[in-house]
Amino acid sequence: MADEIVLQYLEKWGVSREIVKLVTRPIAHWIDGAPVELGERIPVYEPSTGATLTDTFDGGAEIVEQAVRSSRRAFEGEWSAMRSLDRQSLIFRLADLMETHKEELGLLESIDVGKPLSQAVPIDIGGAIDVIRYFAGWATKISGRTGDMVAYDQQFLGMTLRQPVGVVAAIAPWNFPFQTLVWKIGAALAAGCTIVAKPSDTTPVSTLRLAELITQAGFPDGVFNVVNGKGSHTGAALVAHSGINKVSFTGSTPTGIKVGEAALQNMTRLTLELGGKSPALVFADSDIDVVVEGLYNGIFFNTGQVCDATSRAIVDASIFDEVLDRLVERTKSVRILPGLDPESGMGPLASSTHRDSVMRFVNLARADKLTLALDQAQTQNSGYFVGPVIVENPPHDHAVWRDEVFGPVLALSRAQDSQDIVRQAADTRYGLAAAIYSRDIQRVLGAARSLNAGTIYVNGHGFLDPSFPFGGLGMSGFGKDMGAEQMDAYLETKTLLVSGVGVG
Ligand code: NAD
Repeated sequence: MADEIVLQYLEKWGVSREIVKLVTRPIAHWIDGAPVELGERIPVYEPSTGATLTDTFDGGAEIVEQAVRSSRRAFEGEWSAMRSLDRQSLIFRLADLMETHKEELGLLESIDVGKPLSQAVPIDIGGAIDVIRYFAGWATKISGRTGDMVAYDQQFLGMTLRQPVGVVAAIAPWNFPFQTLVWKIGAALAAGCTIVAKPSDTTPVSTLRLAELITQAGFPDGVFNVVNGKGSHTGAALVAHSGINKVSFTGSTPTGIKVGEAALQNMTRLTLELGGKSPALVFADSDIDVVVEGLYNGIFFNTGQVCDATSRAIVDASIFDEVLDRLVERTKSVRILPGLDPESGMGPLASSTHRDSVMRFVNLARADKLTLALDQAQTQNSGYFVGPVIVENPPHDHAVWRDEVFGPVLALSRAQDSQDIVRQAADTRYGLAAAIYSRDIQRVLGAARSLNAGTIYVNGHGFLDPSFPFGGLGMSGFGKDMGAEQMDAYLETKTLLVSGVGVG
């Protein structure tokens, strides 16, 4: 039941009755094309007020069992028998439906996560639609290969068959609940897999709506099921289930390690998209306008709750002061307001637990008397707001330099020269992303080769594309989302070695 203060917030910004209904109804599981309410109720909060939006259910092993059985049935039934051209059409139909409901889905995401609506619609939902459209085409492009064998004569022939891995557990975090889930299901559906999705219990709203749209698009029941609940309970039961063939997990590194350990008990295939502490390398010859905008977006977009945020910026000493001053000015101009306010450039954090976690880093920096070139982190009476913080030259053994804050906190470090920039950038066990700012192509390519990062942006940040893979190295996990490469994660390869194929 939504709190009065949340209803007032929705009313203030003219949210329609239909949308209010969608965000305040109990967020059920979705099994076999229908909602199921099962398990202990858990509250879902609206981040800009901190009051109750609705509640969801912690379904545990019982709902996981129902979901996996349903997904297995669908996998072995109508879905596998379907022509890939028809599968492709269904996926395109889903994209069209998402397009029709784009504004509505953006509203659900903005209200549930707290992000500015002006960003949620084009980025979270628009980006997700692009991903679904890209992967629809892959449904009809899956093939193995045939060829001569190198150690045998022409009496022999080798071939590979590519088949869907089966039932996929798709586990998503709360920072981009819709988009990170869609990053998994586009390729999984194209490959012919069925899916049990598990959103974060902090942000379950848009996943239920997605399930309804998938059913409305005409996918057979059971192709896409949803289980809700706490990670340590429902999530753990899902990952440990022997009927799951593949786990695609996006979340923090510590949880990813637990998920990996559990999945390997059944040799379940794994993709782990985990956390990061990505560097921005700012060379002396870079365009400072581009740098300031890139660094701003790199850390403050989505209130810093971005896995590939460039939370460490390493700037050549010759331009350090100018970059810092201009970045502070740029950051001060942002309006920190509730997501539905059209003036909002930065919304609240997604939960009170996360606000407290970010504030622990900020308070540690304050207690250790680090230089805070910008400190707007005072929290407010209501909601989970935390303003931006820029820490100047923190020691490299300090938590703000080493650990993932996952909030609007930038560590800006001065470097003596280019080599020092590259050396400081490498000072991390994570390897999700990096950004290089320079106008010198040889410098860019040289640095890119040496960086331990799965995605490297050049002169900007955040322009991911469905046709190029995204995924971490080092402690940021393994496996890729998006791009042709992602299809491998949802397909098994079988080898056929045939003898006696010579003529006569
Ligand atoms: P989290 O690890 O706490 O939770 C992620 C998901 O896993 C949630 O759905 C949660 O309920 C579930 N979960 C928790 N414990 C589980 C368990 N034992 N077994 C199975 N499932 C379990 O992460 P979060 O706090 O929701 O998200 C923030 C983290 O996600 C950050 O570290 C961020 O960097 C990372 N992230 C990574 C990417 C990427 O693509 N690499 C993208 C977005 C977020």
